[in-house]
Amino acid sequence: MRVLYWFRNDLRLTDNRGLSMAIEKASEVIPVYIFDERLFQTRLGVPRIGPHRLRFLLESLTDLQNSLRQLNSDLIVLVGDPAELIPKLAAEYGAAEVFCSLSQGSEEEQTLQKVQRRIPVTEITDGYLLDPSILPFSITELPDVFTKFRIQVEKQLSIQEPLPRIEKINTPKVSNCDVPDFSLFAMSMPEPHPHRVDDFRGGEQAGLNRLQHYCSSPEKLGRYKETRNGLLGEYSSRFSPWLAIGAVSARSIMKEVKNFEAEYGANDSSYWMFFELLWRDYFRFVYDKYGVLIFQSGGLKDKPTGSRDVRKFQSWCSGQTTCDFVNANMNELSKTGWMSNRGRQNVASFLVHDLGVDWRLGAAWFEYLLVDYDVASNYGNWLYLAGLGNDPRPNRRFNTALQQAQYDPNGEYTRLWTTS
Ligand SMILES: Cc1cc2nc3c(=O)[nH]c(=O)nc-3n(C[C@H](O)[C@H](O)[C@H](O)COP(=O)(O)OP(=O)(O)OC[C@H]3O[C@@H](n4cnc5c(N)ncnc54)[C@H](O)[C@@H]3O)c2cc1C
Repeated sequence: MRVLYWFRNDLRLTDNRGLSMAIEKASEVIPVYIFDERLFQTRLGVPRIGPHRLRFLLESLTDLQNSLRQLNSDLIVLVGDPAELIPKLAAEYGAAEVFCSLSQGSEEEQTLQKVQRRIPVTEITDGYLLDPSILPFSITELPDVFTKFRIQVEKQLSIQEPLPRIEKINTPKVSNCDVPDFSLFAMSMPEPHPHRVDDFRGGEQAGLNRLQHYCSSPEKLGRYKETRNGLLGEYSSRFSPWLAIGAVSARSIMKEVKNFEAEYGANDSSYWMFFELLWRDYFRFVYDKYGVLIFQSGGLKDKPTGSRDVRKFQSWCSGQTTCDFVNANMNELSKTGWMSNRGRQNVASFLVHDLGVDWRLGAAWFEYLLVDYDVASNYGNWLYLAGLGNDPRPNRRFNTALQQAQYDPNGEYTRLWTTS
């Protein structure tokens, strides 16, 4: 049997359960990626993908295509509506079925349903650290507070080993469809900023290199818990861009954390990496439980939300608010596509609680600019900060002046991103 493998947010060959299953079930597999044309629309007036994430995505696709070509396979890359193009490609190549891995999001689900009306699709549940089928509760009973979730899953923890890298894939000759050039997307390629924390090279190989680099050093992973709230230097793992696009799996990260513990001994920091990956899973499960509610203005609490004051929103986006700490973080974001977790919490709190602006505008701005944009982590964290999600406290307002004094005591970070 010949099938299509539809890559979405799983741009890797190592530990790719969906692709492995397609190879096991079918004699011939044709790998495909479609740039959904909706990416080039706007959300609440904000473009949906900016130059930083686009660059990262194009590099990741080029890396995947090269890896597949080395196996005498290929990757067909097209731009358009997947609901039209996937069934069309299947007919053109005589593929009887489509395989893909889970990609969260309401639009992704709608598109998948449209494809399913025209051709059988097997969607493999993946993208989590914990296998959802072994959770000690049904998804409707997911605790609404993270700590309760963590305690329950930690009691009977079992994380599966990552699958080995795919070394063989039987693909018939397909027409040459190279990854499109940046210029096709009517955006300019971003210049690397001299103060960027990282180059963030897209692709599985670059992600695995980053994983090795961070997890093989007692100075990095071994001190993660002490450094993770930093703003300058190598304060955190920076795994998120590769995780968001599926170039590296959470299981592969945990395997490296275990290797680190075997070599240097477990400590609070190696545990804390697992703890943060559990947060990522938690927000994925929150989406599974609540679906589109996470995109509604009232979130999970159905409370009134902030204003659509364009002037205030623009002052925040352009780093021109009354708070220089917020401005510095917003400048770093627009110039590099990156912001620390500490920065994200502060700017989100400021937009919602100080400026009184609708949190969804902030989430849309992050979606546009973050190199690591991920639907569940982004919307879950915004809801949390807005007091409309999974925070047991009713009002998580950050005092940005105190935060600045604590996390940027000499003003080094704020100066750096105010003058650049
Ligand atoms: C308002 C807001 C929006 C956010 N939007 C995103 C987003 O679109 N994509 C995204 O990946 N993360 C998002 N985060 C979560 C977090 O800020 C980033 O995951 C983290 O800063 C990425 O850096 P790192 O990989 O060095 O993280 P590390 O501190 O090294 O953590 C390791 C991994 O744990 C996971 N993780 C850590 N913190 C969180 C968290 N709070 N929520 C979920 N997962 C977490 C990430 O996968 C991360 O790569 C957001 C946080 C806030 C407050």
